[in-house]
Formats: sequence, structure tokens, C-alpha cells
Amino acid sequence: MKTELSEKLFAKAKDLFPGGVNSPVRAFRGVGGTPRFIARGKGSHLVDVDGNDYVDYVLSWGPLIVGHCHPEVMREVQDAMKDGSSFGACSPREIQLAELVRARMPWVEKMRFCSSGTEATTAAIRVARGFTGRDDIVKCDGCYHGAGDPLLVKAGSGVETLGLPDSPGVPADYAKHTLTVPYNDLAAMEKLFAERGARIAAVIVEPIVGNMGVLVPRPGYLEGLLAICRKHGALLIIDEVMTGFRVSSGGACGLYGIRPDLVTFGKVIGAGLPVGAFGGRADVMDRVAPAGPIYQAGTLSGNPMAMAAGFSTLRLMTPAAYEKLEQLGAALADGLVKAAAAEKVPVQVNRVGSMFTVFFSEKPVFDAASARAASTRRFGAFFHAMLENGVYLPPSQFEACFLSIAHTEADLDRTVAAARLGFAAAAQVE
Ligand SMILES: *Cc1c(COP(=O)(O)O)cnc(C)c1O
Repeated sequence: MKTELSEKLFAKAKDLFPGGVNSPVRAFRGVGGTPRFIARGKGSHLVDVDGNDYVDYVLSWGPLIVGHCHPEVMREVQDAMKDGSSFGACSPREIQLAELVRARMPWVEKMRFCSSGTEATTAAIRVARGFTGRDDIVKCDGCYHGAGDPLLVKAGSGVETLGLPDSPGVPADYAKHTLTVPYNDLAAMEKLFAERGARIAAVIVEPIVGNMGVLVPRPGYLEGLLAICRKHGALLIIDEVMTGFRVSSGGACGLYGIRPDLVTFGKVIGAGLPVGAFGGRADVMDRVAPAGPIYQAGTLSGNPMAMAAGFSTLRLMTPAAYEKLEQLGAALADGLVKAAAAEKVPVQVNRVGSMFTVFFSEKPVFDAASARAASTRRFGAFFHAMLENGVYLPPSQFEACFLSIAHTEADLDRTVAAARLGFAAAAQVE
């Protein structure tokens, strides 16, 4: 596989950007080697600057649930652009997307659009603190809620890959208000609340974790979190930036029947354009400025092109589309499990619908500690064999793979064939 042009561009990039990238995980630090520069995407495929074609399981880290360059999405975004790219004023496309969101997720009684998942989670934390008058928040070890200061404590994703459990630059006096417990461990959460529940404003959680690789909630876990929060007067913030509109039309809350206080969105809701949102209980959201005193704002919030991308994408995500994603996900997971068994490589394939992770581990993976026990060296060998054979996976053991409705049976066949070679390469390690 030719990689000359990617290598040339990466040499320039390293001179321009820290580590050569504009977001850490793109740098391939978790797997080694040179990142590929992407020239274009179409449907379920990516083409890099050297002309190599890949089946894409990154999909811009989740947003592209209908694939790259879906004609309907492109048309609606182009129409919006012709009307003007931004007004910094009220415009009708905000209403269109918000009505669709609330129709699918009635627990989002009121919402506010912003421009990224990080903005959404940072704002939701501020709203929870402002509403309750309390300072402490609780997150789970390994959950990633964006790159905001209060949430860069035991965060997964790029922080996990880079081994930076806490980032320099986040004042200790501030980080001390972020308490962490293991994911999927209700007893630990109960104990923490018993000790200092009266000071806790909110629990924020990835309902299905994607940023430690995929971790599935135990039955009753999310209901248990809600009950603990209710008992102590704290809010439950379900961070659906990754899962929202991906695991079902109602996100993870819809899938598991949870009615949280606040929800955060990003990724799929903007379909590849910069959108985030937070919303939930009307009495809580009415404390946000200008209705209430809790400040939150954004020059480009509710941007018409971004609203058009989100709306046209969500409209394409019919019940039949979610059914298709489930079938593709099940078939691919089955193919990967069989390919690993054929090469005698122990793996755990964690999956919910169209998001999944292949963990190189003999034991079940259900929290940060069990995820960290997976072999990142085996993952690295697997990753590079897949890349060489035209399959583009997230370049870290601790990230989720995604499917889109553009993926085909032929894509899956190519992926499983490549995986045989990938698992054979992984078997050579350790
Ligand atoms: C990606 C992600 C974020 C951050 O969103 P950005 O748009 O990258 O700022 C927050 N929470 C979760 C669960 C995510 O997966």
C-alpha cells in the first residue's frame, strides 16, 4: 500500500500542529505509524491522498450514520448555504430540528443548540450546578465527556490512549469537585452519595460507554443511577453525544427506558457539521439565560447549515434504518468472533446496535479496569493489518467502531476477510 503523500503531509503537519494533528487520537499514538490523510469519503468508504480505498468504521467518530456525502443531506446543506451561512439571529431551521428531537425524545422538553459535544457537556454541568446550588459532580472512571476542564478527570478516549489521567492546566482546586467511581458499579455510587450526597449537583455518565471502547451497562445500572440521584436531590445527566440517535431513534434513554433530568448531544445530531445540544426538564432548562440566570451562549449556535445537516440525517433514520443497522452490527460481530476463533485469538466483542469494540482480552470487559487489561499490542497488530487490507478502524483499543446505513454486505465480507489476517497478525504478538 502506497503511503508517500500521507507521509509527506504528516511531516508538514508536525511542523504546524502539536503532534501533527488538530485532535489527539488522530495521531495514531495508540497504534504507531503514520496517519493517513483523507482526500474524500463516499458512502461507507474513505479514499486517502495516495488513492487507497478503505471501508470506514470511524465515520468521523460517529456522526456519519447515513455515510459520507448522502445526496439528500448534501442537497439540504447546500440549500441552507445559499440562504446564508450564518445570521446570529433566530432562523426557522432551528425549529425544524428541535421539533424532530423532541418528537423522538419527549424527555427533552426544552433544549439549547451549541456547536460541539464538549460545549454541551460543559454547559450541562454548569446548569446542574446552578440549578442545585451544589459544586460537586460525579463521573465514571474511563467515561469521556469532552475536553472541558471539569470533565478531564479519569477521562477515556484520547486521554486513555495517551496515558494522561489528569491534564496539566486543570487547577487542582477545580478538579477536586469532580468525583469518580467505576462504571457499572452501583454500590460504589451509593457509597459515595452516602458520604457526601448533599454536596453533589449531578452524575454525568455515558449510558453505553464508547470512549473506553464499548462497555455495555448492566441491567438496572442506569435505573439505579436515576434512583440514587432522586434520593439525594442530584440531577442525572445522560451524555448521549455518542449514543444519541445512534443506538435507537430515542438514543440510549429510549433503548433502556430512562427519563433523565438532562441529556447532551453531539456527533449524529449534526451529521458531520459542528452541532451539540443539551436539554431536558423544562423547569431546569428555564434557568438558562435569558429565561434564567445561568449563562450559556454561542455565536454560531443553531447554525442553519448544521441544522439542515442534522435534520435531513435524522429524517433518513427511520425504524427500518435502525433495523438495518442492528442486522449489520449483529452479522459483523458474528463474523469477527468466528474469525478470531479460527485464529485462536481470545477476544471480547462488545456491541450495542451499530457501535462495537473488539477487545483483545480473555475476560469480560465491563469497566475501565477490565478494559485496560486488554492487549493494546495485539490491537496495534490487528489495526495495522486491517488498514493494510483496506479497513479503517479507530486507531486505539479504547474507541468504538461505527456502522452506517451505507455499509453493505460486500463491505462486511471484505472486513471479515481482512480480520482473519488481522487476528493472525495479533496472534504473533506476546
Ligand atoms: C465525542 C464525545 C464528547 C465530545 O464531543 P466533541 O464534539 O468532540 O466536543 C462528549 N461526550 C461523549 C460521550 C463523546 O463521545
